[in-house]
Amino acid sequence: MTNSAVSVAIYGTRPYDRQFLNAANIAHGFDLMFIEAPLTPLSAKLAAGFRVACVFVNDVVDREVLHALAEAGVALLALRCAGYNNVDLAAAEELGIAVVRVPAYSPHAVSEFTIGLLLSLDRRIHRAWARVRENNFALDGLVGRNLHGRVAGVVGTGQIGSLVARALRAGFGCEVLAADPVVDQGLVDIGVRYVEPDALLREAEIISLHCPLTPDTRHLIDAKALSGAKPGLLIVNTSRGALIDSTALIEALKQRKIAGVALDVYEQEAGVFFEDLSSEIIDDDVLQRLLTFPNVLMTGHQAFLTEEALTAIAHTTLQSVADFSAGRPLPNQVDAPRLSLL
Ligand code: NAD
Repeated sequence: MTNSAVSVAIYGTRPYDRQFLNAANIAHGFDLMFIEAPLTPLSAKLAAGFRVACVFVNDVVDREVLHALAEAGVALLALRCAGYNNVDLAAAEELGIAVVRVPAYSPHAVSEFTIGLLLSLDRRIHRAWARVRENNFALDGLVGRNLHGRVAGVVGTGQIGSLVARALRAGFGCEVLAADPVVDQGLVDIGVRYVEPDALLREAEIISLHCPLTPDTRHLIDAKALSGAKPGLLIVNTSRGALIDSTALIEALKQRKIAGVALDVYEQEAGVFFEDLSSEIIDDDVLQRLLTFPNVLMTGHQAFLTEEALTAIAHTTLQSVADFSAGRPLPNQVDAPRLSLL
C-alpha cells in the first residue's frame, strides 16, 4: 500500500528510529523524512509542506517552535514517547496542531532495565567487567549485598513500578513498600505494603522511582529526604531526572550517606543524552561530578530501548498518523489542560 500524500518529518532520528519506523511504515507507505537534528525554531522550517512532525523526549516544543511548525503547514505533532512535559499544549491548541503520544509501549523494557541497574550497582558488575578487561581478577571492593530480605521502596506503582515491585517481592523476596495514591490490589495480595511517601523514604534500603514528573514530585529526593534516609541507601531512577535534586544527591554521596545511585535519567539531560560527546568538553559540572563517584552508575535514557518497545512505538506513532490523515478520532491525543473555573 502506498500513501505518499502523507508526509512525516521525523526529528532527532537515530539509526534505530529509522529501522523500526521504516519497518512499521510498510503497512502505511507514508513519505517519511528522517532528520538527525533536534526540533528547534530553525530546523522546524525543514518541515515546510509536511503535515506531521514527529519528536522524542528531549525536543523542546515550545510556543516559538510550534509557531514555526504551524507556518510550515504542520497540523499533527506525534511524540514517539509517553511523556509530554516538553510540549506547550496550550500553544499547540491555539495554533490548531493536534498532539499525540505513545502512552504505553513496553513497561517490561523499563522495569527489566531497572532491575538490571539495581543488580549491577549493588553487586558492582559494571566495575568488575572494567577490571577483568584489564586482567585484574581481584575481588577487593566488590562486596555486595543480597536483595533477598531487604526493604525496597517503589514510588509509583503504575505500569512500570508495579512490575518492579512484583519482581522485587515475588522474584527476589524483598520486603516491598510502595507509595502511590492509587493502590494496586494485586501487589497488596502478594505482600507489598502501601505506606505514606515519607515513611517509604525513611524506611527503605533501596528506593526505585516510577512516578511521573509533576510540580508535586519535582525534587522528591531532596536534601531533607536524603538526610532522613537509611544509611546505606541505594537509589535507582529510570523515571524522570528532576525527581532527584542532583546537587543534594552529590552532597549526600560526598558525606557517604548513601551507598549508591543508578540513574538512567538526569535533570539536565536535554542536549547531552542521546549524543556522542566523547570528544567534547561538557560544561555541566553537576553531571561531571556525578560521573566521578565510584558508586554512581549512569546510563543515557536507555531503559526503553528494546526491539519490542521500538516496534510498539513505531506502530502506535504511524497508526496515529493514519487515523489523523483519515479524519478518524485520535485515541492517543493529548489535550491542553483546562483551567477550572470552580
Ligand atoms: P504510569 O502512569 O503507568 O504510572 C505512574 C504511577 O505514578 C501511577 O500509578 C500514579 O498514580 C503514580 N503517581 C502519581 N503521582 C505520584 C506521587 N506523587 N507519588 C507516588 N506515585 C505517584 O507511568 P509508567 O508508564 O509506569 O511510567 C513511569 C515513569 O517512567 C514516567 O515518568 C515515565 O516518563 C518514565 N519512563 C521512563 C523511560 C526510560 O526510558 N527511562 C521509559 C518510559 C517511561
